[in-house]
Amino acid sequence: MNHLAAHLAWPRVKALATANAWALLPIGSTEAHGPHLPLNVDVVIAQEVCRRVGLVHETVEFPAVTYSLTDFAAPFAGTVSLAAETAKAMLVNVIRGIGSAGFGRICVINHHLEPAHFKVVHAAATEAGTGATFRVVVPDHRRKPTGPLLGDEFMHGGSHAGSYETSLMLAAAPQLVNDEARRALPSLNVDLPGAIKAGATNFLEAGGPEAYFGAPADASAAEGQRLFEIITRATLDAMNG
Ligand SMILES: [Zn+2]
Repeated sequence: MNHLAAHLAWPRVKALATANAWALLPIGSTEAHGPHLPLNVDVVIAQEVCRRVGLVHETVEFPAVTYSLTDFAAPFAGTVSLAAETAKAMLVNVIRGIGSAGFGRICVINHHLEPAHFKVVHAAATEAGTGATFRVVVPDHRRKPTGPLLGDEFMHGGSHAGSYETSLMLAAAPQLVNDEARRALPSLNVDLPGAIKAGATNFLEAGGPEAYFGAPADASAAEGQRLFEIITRATLDAMNG
């Protein structure tokens, strides 16, 4: 069962930690996700993965990290980006704070996929877990074998606000998707990872003038369910590993 830490009094949190529940830390961002999706897409996805993990394990989900390093979406209204050192320091403090309740294992569930940000997440988890009384796990669904299962668009183009994220949103929070807008969007076949490697520093430079890539019009709730099942399985595997 997944317990929301924010809704619990401290003795209950302590009891769950002592009973060896997993602590979960969802991480997202506040950033532009095309003209059809809200700013909190990554948070919604991370929290939905927490909920699904909680169907298998006893879990305590901590309040999400909603501000992160998000330089790529910075040119678009509503995006709020932290400097890397600020983001890292905050994550180290949050993870240590969670661990201080007595949790023996913490799973950091990150769904803001900007490479520099994911690097910060891994570094913060390593720093917080070094010499600690708790173990920190960071599932990384970009990697093999999971990444390729999430589709060609995920690997080579539209992992930002394309069919992948739009499908996940249609499955988890359809009321937050502007369906009319997303159906009208032409698909944008940009190799985002390639553009980043070639030196693009934001979505405009990468060829995404509306802060989306890929094919939002191709998204569906059924595909979102399929993707969530793959991501959840990978997350559970990482927790068991
Ligand atoms: Zn996203």
